[in-house]
Amino acid sequence: TRRKLVAGNWKMNGSLAALAELEGIAAAAAAHTDVDVAIAVPATLIAAAHARVPALAIGAQDVHPAEKGAYTGCISTTLAKEAGASFSIVGHSERRADQNESDVLVKAKAEALHKAGMMAIVCVGETLEQRDAGDAEAVVTAQVAGSLPDGAAPDWCAIAYEPVWAIGTGRTPTVADVAAMHGAIRATLRDLIGEGADAMRLLYGGSVSGANAAELLHTADVDGALVGGASLTAAAFVPIIAAA
Ligand code: 13P
Repeated sequence: TRRKLVAGNWKMNGSLAALAELEGIAAAAAAHTDVDVAIAVPATLIAAAHARVPALAIGAQDVHPAEKGAYTGCISTTLAKEAGASFSIVGHSERRADQNESDVLVKAKAEALHKAGMMAIVCVGETLEQRDAGDAEAVVTAQVAGSLPDGAAPDWCAIAYEPVWAIGTGRTPTVADVAAMHGAIRATLRDLIGEGADAMRLLYGGSVSGANAAELLHTADVDGALVGGASLTAAAFVPIIAAA
C-alpha cells in the first residue's frame, strides 16, 4: 500500500515571518505518522525553513537541470540541497505556461534531482480548453510519458495531476473524473516502467481544502495532494494532513 503524501506549494508567497506557520505543520506531521508531509517554499526561504523545522521535508519549487554554470537567476539541485531541500516540484503548470517549460526540460530537471539524491514531484495537467475538447486524458498521459525521468522509481518520484482550471479557482473535478485520470496515469506508468507503477504516488492538486480533502484523498488511485493556497497557514493545512 502506498503511504499518502501531502505536499504544500507556497508558490511566490510567504516570508521569514510566515515560517512560524511551519511549527504547527511540523507538529501535525509528527502526529500523523502514517502520512508524509512536505512543503515547497520560495528558494530564499529554504535554509531558514529547514533550520526552523528540521524534521519537516522542505523542498524547492523548481531546479535547473545543470549542476552549475552560467545560468543567471537559476538554482541547481546541489544548491537547493545544501540549503536544506530534500525534494523539488518540477513542471508545475505555472512554469510550463509562464516560463515555456517543455516535457523534455521537466524530465531533465527530475533526472537531476535523482542524481542529487532528492525526490521529484512531477506535475501534469490539462487546460480547460483541452478538457472541453475531450482531450484531457490524451494531453495528461502524453505529459506523463514525456516528463517521466529515466529510471523513475516510487522511492524518489511522484506525479501530481493538477488540472490547470482547478488551480486557485475553488473548482475541482468530480471524484469520478479524478479517479478516471489517476487510473489513466497509472496505466500509462505501467506501460512505461512496469511494476514500479503500482507503488508510485499520484497526487491530486487544484483547490484542495480542508472541506474537500477527505473525499479527494480517499478516491481510487489518489495517494496524496499538492496544495497551494491552503498550505500557507497551519490552520488551513493541518486539516488536510488529518484527512489523509
Ligand atoms: P491551489 O491549491 O491554490 O489551487 O494550488 C494548487 C497548486 O497549483 C499546487 O501546486
